[in-house]
Amino acid sequence: MSAQVLDALREAARAVGRAGEPQLAGLDETAAATRALALVAQAGLTAWTVPAKWGGAPTRGLAADDDVSCRALCALRGPLAYHSAMLDVMLVMQGLGSYSLARSGSEAARRELLPRVARGELVAAFGLTEPGAGSDLGLIATRAERVGGRWRISGHKTFISNAGVAGLYTLLARTCGEPGDGGKGSLTMFALRGDAAGLATRRFEVTSPHPIGDVLLERVEVGDESVLGEVGGGLDVALATLGRFRTSVAAAANGFARRALDESLRRLSTRAQFGKPLALNQGLAFDVAEMDTRLRAAELLVHEAAEAVDRGERAIEEVARAKLFSTENASYVCDRAVQHFGGQGVVRGNIVEQLWRDVRALRIYEGTSEVQKLILSRALFSRHGGS
Ligand SMILES: Cc1cc2nc3c(=O)[nH]c(=O)nc-3n(C[C@H](O)[C@H](O)[C@H](O)COP(=O)(O)OP(=O)(O)OC[C@H]3O[C@@H](n4cnc5c(N)ncnc54)[C@H](O)[C@@H]3O)c2cc1C
Repeated sequence: MSAQVLDALREAARAVGRAGEPQLAGLDETAAATRALALVAQAGLTAWTVPAKWGGAPTRGLAADDDVSCRALCALRGPLAYHSAMLDVMLVMQGLGSYSLARSGSEAARRELLPRVARGELVAAFGLTEPGAGSDLGLIATRAERVGGRWRISGHKTFISNAGVAGLYTLLARTCGEPGDGGKGSLTMFALRGDAAGLATRRFEVTSPHPIGDVLLERVEVGDESVLGEVGGGLDVALATLGRFRTSVAAAANGFARRALDESLRRLSTRAQFGKPLALNQGLAFDVAEMDTRLRAAELLVHEAAEAVDRGERAIEEVARAKLFSTENASYVCDRAVQHFGGQGVVRGNIVEQLWRDVRALRIYEGTSEVQKLILSRALFSRHGGS
């Protein structure tokens, strides 16, 4: 994918962000989610979350031409996050929630559903987490049982972005074995309709505006066409989805941090105390130099990881480094920005207060910072020939 295409995507996302930020202010969460999705879809951005083959935007330079471009996702998420966490989440969930279907679904289901996801008409969600299974997916207890030639699914998913808003849920359920068995060979990915009988949702609030909640499944019946990939191969499907999207979480983190840095620069240049602008205090000026340098390092890690993913590499180390460093650094940068604003920095609704809350969850979802350290340290030791 050429640098010009990526620049054009950044510019398109910036335009949506600039227009969307004031429009979303003051809306309640569901209205904001609906409006945000409409904005990113009308601008054609959601098309980049679905492979070209299934109604998405045409991509070039990927290892597989039927894939989603990680570089494109990163190019879009940074500028969207700069303006609005809601624009960012509503864009990316279309991809995260539908990628397992794009990768492993039946021809008929892909043809029917994915073009609608690409146009933003069908909202997607991705269901891994459960009350008892977070970082350790081998603890998944949601069961899919074979009954009369169909699958009957019962269980409880939690922290599911787009719960109650989605029309398509891709989710991981246990088709054999017991929670705690590691999940290899015993979990299967399914695609469920949002209006399936037996599927209910319960919303809750998190620190930043984000449609999220529980998905309660009680004897939801589906046929074999809802199975994504091999029965028992669900963990690989889920991990491949995370592998493609995780780098874009880092890109979003950098978008929030870039905005916080710009806000700090503005504030420190325009506010005077003790007879001079705050920026003339070396301690504060050095702060922005530190924020800028760390942010640039994070952006380069994202660049390295996204290129490797688009070349078709597993890029486990690159992706883990980018996610770990960018999300942790973004919290640092947003926190410094709050400090630069003084009391105003903690007033509810102030831009830096909002960024500080927006960025926090990114160190937790799609693999916590500790999980990234586990992945990276294991890879390092195994290359070193150690444990
Ligand atoms: C805003 C938001 C949106 C989300 N959206 C989705 C979604 O759409 N779909 C979905 O399926 N899930 C989603 N999640 C859930 C998210 O993926 C989980 O919260 C995450 O995987 C962590 O799981 P947990 O909360 O159960 O924490 P736990 O796994 O219980 O971990 C608790 C703490 O222990 C640490 N820890 C765990 N194991 C180890 C270890 N071996 N070594 C060192 N430290 C360890 C963790 O890093 C963490 O700090 C979302 C979460 C948030 C906050």
